[in-house]
Amino acid sequence: MIQLKSYARGQWHEGTGEGRVLHHAVTGEPIASVDSTGLDLAAMLDHARAVGGPALRAMHMRERAALLRKIAQVLNEHLPELYEIAATYGATKRDAWVDIEGGIAAIAVFASLGRRHLPESNFLVDGGVERLSKEGTFVGCHIRVPLEGVAVQINAFNFPSWGMLEKLGPSLLAGMPTIVKPATPTAWLTVRMVELIIESGVLPEGSLQLISGSVGDLLDHLTCQDVLAFTGSAKTGCTIRSHPNLVKNAVRVNVEADSLNAAVLGPDVEPDSPLFALFIKEVVSEMTGKAGQKCTAIRRILVPAARESAVIDALKARLTGTTVGDPSNPEVKVRMGPLVDRGAVETARRGIAQLAQEAQIVSGDPQRGEFAAEGGGTAGAFLEPILLRATDPANATVVHEVEVFGPVATVLAYDDNASAAALVRKGGGSLVASAFSEDADFIRDLTFAIAPFHGRLLLMNEKAAGESTSHGIVMPQLVHGGPGRAGGGEELGGLRAVHHYMQRLALQGDPERLEALCASPSSTPSNNTAATG
Ligand code: NAP
Repeated sequence: MIQLKSYARGQWHEGTGEGRVLHHAVTGEPIASVDSTGLDLAAMLDHARAVGGPALRAMHMRERAALLRKIAQVLNEHLPELYEIAATYGATKRDAWVDIEGGIAAIAVFASLGRRHLPESNFLVDGGVERLSKEGTFVGCHIRVPLEGVAVQINAFNFPSWGMLEKLGPSLLAGMPTIVKPATPTAWLTVRMVELIIESGVLPEGSLQLISGSVGDLLDHLTCQDVLAFTGSAKTGCTIRSHPNLVKNAVRVNVEADSLNAAVLGPDVEPDSPLFALFIKEVVSEMTGKAGQKCTAIRRILVPAARESAVIDALKARLTGTTVGDPSNPEVKVRMGPLVDRGAVETARRGIAQLAQEAQIVSGDPQRGEFAAEGGGTAGAFLEPILLRATDPANATVVHEVEVFGPVATVLAYDDNASAAALVRKGGGSLVASAFSEDADFIRDLTFAIAPFHGRLLLMNEKAAGESTSHGIVMPQLVHGGPGRAGGGEELGGLRAVHHYMQRLALQGDPERLEALCASPSSTPSNNTAATG
């Protein structure tokens, strides 16, 4: 069993406490222990502020974009090892690909955006000059400058690679050093990736540190110059958001929390049509990909009442044909691996029991545990896909409140277009919803009815299907986040993401003075939409 270390102030640190033991998701064997006891967390913040930040900001933004490209290269050279680690928490090859190579792709996208659109300076000009006086001798404009603190990341267990890299790209571009705190159950992958980045010497000292284990009193030491980017459950997000020191110092906090994402089948879609088949494929893929452990997974399946039985039949046929088991078993083509650990299975079973108060299970058995025939061991954290059907959709409440973080979704039949939109909105704010229809009027009405409750909408028809990146995949070029229970945060969105780590301020003065200040070499390259927007 290995002990996962932290990286603090240029040294690898082994926890001095008992630590938490991680178990292999398939075999149940202990594989690693995680512990941050003994770390001086305030000193880590000081180190980042005093050493990492100044070193990063001694470079201009395009130079920092080059660092991101090198990070992507380093990680790409070690893919087989990273996939092996991902297998310990039950990821199939595809699950691991989404996280590992998806994360590397995200940081590479930021490298490219930075190289093409960011200036050879350390600040951005935001918008144009505002005339503020009659004679024009007094004007105003806006600029963005890097914050001088630390970007602290607290990440969820389900994306140990992507979660780190999608945040690291924008914060490094902005010029902020980072402290990463991975979720304990899958910390091994993040620890190894940080180790590879540190060993490569790509980043200046102090610009990347790591906490393996608890964050201890870290949040007590954050100031107005720091940014806390949290991804995880709504419950932990709420605890973090209300932390007294964060409230007192108005520390910038971004919360990416859980979400009861919907997929809506339009009334025009016939059961024998290609779009119907696409809908079924997408729902099954979202339910079973990463064993349903995706913040963007489809949890609520909205279908016209007249199509309910056709949808349930088609989903059942696909879900019961999904092979659940050990992804590393060479004998069997396993489609879905286990959940992250047995605790996650028990939590999911409790959630299914809550859903079953107002829905019937139409496919799968939550208690089934023996997957040995499909290649899984009986000690593993397995749960087969569970499909439910809301018995009284208009009055159901639990389905809009309880996130079951596993291969679980509920069908809700709707009567008309207005009730479809009303049901979607009951999710109280989601990361993403998708709508499957060729009917332009239906799509327009639904889009504007549910848009205020979402961070992203996928409008699927046959034309888009061929090249669609799918419902659950988050693209670094586009905004990720959602209002309400989704956390109220926003990440990604191309270079918009860099702005989260910068301070925007208004400058006022005489026009020539402001022009001289803002016109440092290449500070406003052409096509710099995010920099000027
Ligand atoms: P979690 O239990 O809320 O933990 C998230 C992170 O917070 C972990 O690193 C955890 O560390 C840390 N943490 C827990 N309590 C804390 C506290 N009091 N102070 C500071 N940090 C604390 O969530 P999870 O089980 O890892 O992840 C699954 C959840 O994340 C799901 O609800 C999913 O929907 C959501 N998620 C959202 C997104 C998104 O982009 N919106 C993406 C992925 C996942 P330990 O592990 O060491 O306890």
